[in-house]
Amino acid sequence: MLSKTIEQVERIALRMEPRRAIGLLSSLPSSAIEAMQRARFRRTLRLAATRSSFYREQFKRYGINLRKIEHPSQLGDFFTTGEDLRAHGAEEFLTGHADTAFETTGTTSHVVKRAFFSQKEINEIGRTSALALHLLCLRREDRVLSAFDCSFWISPVVVRSAFQYINCFHVEAGKIEPLEFYERARFYRPNVIFGEPSWMVRLSEIAEARGAWPMKFLFAGGENITETARYMVERVWSAPLYLNYGQTESFGAIGVECKQKNGYHRNDLNFIFEVVDEDEEGYGELVYTTLTRDVMPLIRYRSTDITRLVDEPCACGLFAKRIGKIRARADEMVVCGMGNVGPWVFAEILSDALAPGADWQAVIKNDGRRDVIELSVELEDLRHQGEIENRVRANLRERFADFWRNHEMKLYDLKVNVFARGSLRGGRKLQRVVDERQMLMRRVV
Ligand SMILES: [Zn+2]
Repeated sequence: MLSKTIEQVERIALRMEPRRAIGLLSSLPSSAIEAMQRARFRRTLRLAATRSSFYREQFKRYGINLRKIEHPSQLGDFFTTGEDLRAHGAEEFLTGHADTAFETTGTTSHVVKRAFFSQKEINEIGRTSALALHLLCLRREDRVLSAFDCSFWISPVVVRSAFQYINCFHVEAGKIEPLEFYERARFYRPNVIFGEPSWMVRLSEIAEARGAWPMKFLFAGGENITETARYMVERVWSAPLYLNYGQTESFGAIGVECKQKNGYHRNDLNFIFEVVDEDEEGYGELVYTTLTRDVMPLIRYRSTDITRLVDEPCACGLFAKRIGKIRARADEMVVCGMGNVGPWVFAEILSDALAPGADWQAVIKNDGRRDVIELSVELEDLRHQGEIENRVRANLRERFADFWRNHEMKLYDLKVNVFARGSLRGGRKLQRVVDERQMLMRRVV
């Protein structure tokens, strides 16, 4: 069997040192990787159908004949959602013995989602992540300080596992105040720092005022970052800031940027990716199926993130294909008087209006006559409200002609509210676009 041979090659490759492993994996033709994906998918499907009570019942309810299914797209309108995880509980998804679990709350619900894993899975994901970090030039002689939040969060465990295979020196600070981190970090002379994007921006503001030190790269995960904020971090440290894209449910390992920083190289060894409900540009919701999880496999899991699959080769030459930049969360896309808008629209309007790292949020309301977009922004000096309003309107007019036309036609009102720095964000994540009209409707239903 071709897929068996390929699996053996992959297993051997992942046990080699990273440089040789990447070379060996690059030599596999994409048809071979696809054959391996299909074999792994069928195995995952059988495992889920026999051991997970959730999938057993769902497959029966949807009348799915497993013998005929070779690819997730053949499952029609069957999907797994975050809501399924919340409503049924992770236990109904389990197919094997779990060694550990992690949690995520997301931006729209306070009910946690839990994902369970085995130690074997942690080791495997560590090996794959080590390859990605090797491509970013993380080496044995480097000194890493990580400020990833250790509280129920998956990322610290994944990177700790990856560091074992690279053998670099590393210290875990946890997510502490950036100023305290700055003062205590210097002793260890780290040349690589891991943290969440918004935390990294605050650390960089401190370093800009007090002095930066030589850095090889910075690595952020857990949320998105604007290109303006990324540029600020890179300027302060004179080093690149790379992003990882993942979710707790996916084991944090969906994709990682290369030095081109133009999309995330996706992990086709461990997942099959699909994009559903595509628009004319190919953007839609990312849906993934796990291929190598024994404890809690997920089939056609809706990520709620809007992006596209990029199959054209990357300038870096790496064999792994890409996922484009994440445009928005599906639940943050809003159809309103302004048009069909998502966070990227407001990020673009505000891109040169706010200080790097200043938070913002757009709330869509309705005053009974028309939709009202309330744009809340953080400012250093609240007396600059008038200037910000002017800039926002000018940017809207110049960059989004359609949305501006709707404004001229009085299809919506646009208001700008200003707040002090650091006051908008309550938890780790901030929901960028909130549709309060929808919430009112939900409450009525
Ligand atoms: Zn690349």
